[in-house]
Amino acid sequence: MVSNSESDITDSEIDEYKEKPYSLLKDGILKVKRSDGSLKCPFCPGKKKQVYGRKDLLQHAQGIGSSSSYKRTAKAKAKHLALAAYLQQEQQVPRSSRCRSDGECRKLVRGG
Ligand SMILES: [Zn+2]
Repeated sequence: MVSNSESDITDSEIDEYKEKPYSLLKDGILKVKRSDGSLKCPFCPGKKKQVYGRKDLLQHAQGIGSSSSYKRTAKAKAKHLALAAYLQQEQQVPRSSRCRSDGECRKLVRGG
């Protein structure tokens, strides 16, 4: 019955979409690094020349993730938000404990 309400999406739904690509990135199934060390966006395969530095890729991911354009589907946004989160997470080298913020803590604890 619902035909074109793709853009009508809530933040919590974005969060749901975000989880899968995020774990794919974390597990290395989706790769952002090329062999030459440059980075690419795994979610924009259509673009011919997509070579990014870390900052550029983060900007790209955040830009699309926070875009309010209706051309971006919720899934595309969520994927890019996941990418941004992944890049930010990678930046802060995890020491003995990754549990620095409340949100992270709860996520880790929730598993059991
Ligand atoms: Zn992209």
